[in-house]
Amino acid sequence: MSFQVDIIKAGSAREIKEKILPVLDGHKGIFPQSRTARILIKPNLNANMNALTGNTTDLRLLAAVIEYLKNKGYDNISIGEGTNSGYYRSNISVIARLKVDALARYYGVKVVDLNYSEPVYIDFEDGIKAGVAREVVEAEFLINMPKLKTHFEAGMSVCLKNLMGCLVGQQNKKKTHQSLAANILNINKRIKPHIHIVDALLSMEGLGPTRGIPINTGTVIIGKDPYLIDLLCARLASFDYRKVRTLVEAEKRGIINNDYKKFTDGFKLEKKYHFKPPEAGPLATFIHSPKRQKYFLAVRNTKFFTYMASTKWFGHLLFLSGLRQDNFIKEEMKFEGLNFNMSRCIGGCTRCRDYCPVELDLPKKFDDKKCIECLYCFLVCPSVAIEFRGSLGFMAEQMRQYDEITRKVV
Ligand code: SF4
Ligand code: SF4
Repeated sequence: MSFQVDIIKAGSAREIKEKILPVLDGHKGIFPQSRTARILIKPNLNANMNALTGNTTDLRLLAAVIEYLKNKGYDNISIGEGTNSGYYRSNISVIARLKVDALARYYGVKVVDLNYSEPVYIDFEDGIKAGVAREVVEAEFLINMPKLKTHFEAGMSVCLKNLMGCLVGQQNKKKTHQSLAANILNINKRIKPHIHIVDALLSMEGLGPTRGIPINTGTVIIGKDPYLIDLLCARLASFDYRKVRTLVEAEKRGIINNDYKKFTDGFKLEKKYHFKPPEAGPLATFIHSPKRQKYFLAVRNTKFFTYMASTKWFGHLLFLSGLRQDNFIKEEMKFEGLNFNMSRCIGGCTRCRDYCPVELDLPKKFDDKKCIECLYCFLVCPSVAIEFRGSLGFMAEQMRQYDEITRKVV
């Protein structure tokens, strides 16, 4: 069996673009001949949490991949994601909040919310059929761009888990929550991306996918085999793969065998990290144990529970108990600009420029026409020299939780 995985270490937007180029060129045989082929990029945008929290795919990596494709002459590129059910139910556009739509406009590519796509029904456990987005099934070239993060139900979320975002809307997503690991493998049996590009620039450790903390791993992992990459990511994070439910299931099905383990064990990693495991509170751990989860899901899928979960006070109670990971804040951010307070700027620091996905020459030249309002520069500045004008809306809570951590970690 011949295995190949490429690992890039990168820190700035420029470096990501430069280093990804020869690696993707090395895979050029798999890219479509036709420059008008339908290319779909599937990032991980499951919640409205900025990539620097470790939760979602970094816009700098997304920009690098789009630039690569555009430079090769491809002109039918879309970014597609079906964000998590709670945001969908609350009519919150995670794609807009993460400024993926602004990045798409910047590059002249399309963006599609897969939660509203036409479903194509595929098989899951127990005879269940659930709909995945037609755009995914019909893409002529599919690029999977997951985020490396811990996941309190699955153990880890990388290539395999990321495809669950191809399910259309809450109605299809909730059909697959039971037997989650088996269903993740079922979706991977049907949908086979041509290449996987893992964002492990800022990964998430601890209580992922949405209550963990970022860890600076400065890495991008590229390959064609999602099982191999996920196994290698477990090693990168110093996780016992037997605690990652998707990998356990893959081994049970005979997909991961000794050749896989030999390859990953022998793979020379420049650096290994020690991710904190995703340990939930006692109530969530009790309920989400594989034995009991089906009873919880049966209750959760009732109309009454869905209604209760949509009310503010009950939603907050679920969040506090740890049974719900996300906090669905309705207030949008209103961006009126950024001020660069040069009296606070530290000489020699290049962080704001390194993190700007559209590579503005910061802090010298802020161009409000090119700025996509992602706030990366604002969030990484070590001396808080960049000031936000407008109203932070949902970002205020994220700042409360992550501001200090992000500035330290990046
Ligand atoms: S200037 Fe700042 S907010 Fe604007 S695109 Fe660059 S990093 Fe994002
Ligand atoms: S991140 Fe802050 S301190 Fe660093 S160059 Fe930019 S403005 Fe100056």
